[in-house]
Amino acid sequence: MRTVSLLGIPNDDNSSLLKGPAEAPALIRRELHSDGHTSWSESGVDLSVAGRFEDHGDIQFDSASDPWDLIEQHVARALEAGNPLICLGGDHAITHPIMRAVRRRHAKLCILHIDAHPDIYHAYQGNPRSHTSPFARIMEERLADRLIQVGLRTVNDHHRDQFKRFGVEVIEAGRCGENLRFDITTPVYISMDIDALDPAFAPGVSHREPGGLSPRQVIDWIHTIDQPIVAADIVEYNPRCDISNLTAGVAAKLLKEIAGMMVKTNG
Ligand code: MN
Ligand code: MN
Repeated sequence: MRTVSLLGIPNDDNSSLLKGPAEAPALIRRELHSDGHTSWSESGVDLSVAGRFEDHGDIQFDSASDPWDLIEQHVARALEAGNPLICLGGDHAITHPIMRAVRRRHAKLCILHIDAHPDIYHAYQGNPRSHTSPFARIMEERLADRLIQVGLRTVNDHHRDQFKRFGVEVIEAGRCGENLRFDITTPVYISMDIDALDPAFAPGVSHREPGGLSPRQVIDWIHTIDQPIVAADIVEYNPRCDISNLTAGVAAKLLKEIAGMMVKTNG
């Protein structure tokens, strides 16, 4: 039976506006395991079967170690068994050290990045580790062969320069029509920023950007992926901004659909 690994990365050190995403992993887990929701993915996988998830717990950050080194080490360890891994953020900055570990295991790799924001600033407020910059670092270090960004609706001229520089494939929110498909031919990493969704569906984020995606759209895209989904992150859920745990529930739903497709695509 295919097991899916989980790892909590409660770090929001590099959030530019609000803290809170560090509190997310525990709340997403609670929704994931809640009797109030189905344990089946829509793709037909029972996620409540014993041994389906191997939860590696949360990384404990301390002032003695560089958090980037800790994240890279913990992700590398979680990947050792060869099972797909879902990381629960945390803000989006964590995707950079996650990718350092993921890339070592995959010579061919495509990132499907779903977000309201491109997160590809060269630096922001003087911080190269800002949660607005992880994909600049990832592309500089060649941690993926392709970067597909979907759902964007905050693009400026600097971002467009960066897209050109790094060869990013961009599908802005206004072009996310019903029949959108991704032509992915290698193992894939999904980076799921919860603020890609419209704030009506997911108010619990630090940067609410109207005009967003629906959970239905994103779930349908996840279901179209036919290459192995080797790892993923779910980031930027901010419980301090949530209403009635609505966003925690959406994050857990996306987790289940990604996990279900991990089981199917990794055989
Ligand atoms: Mn983001
Ligand atoms: Mn975002």
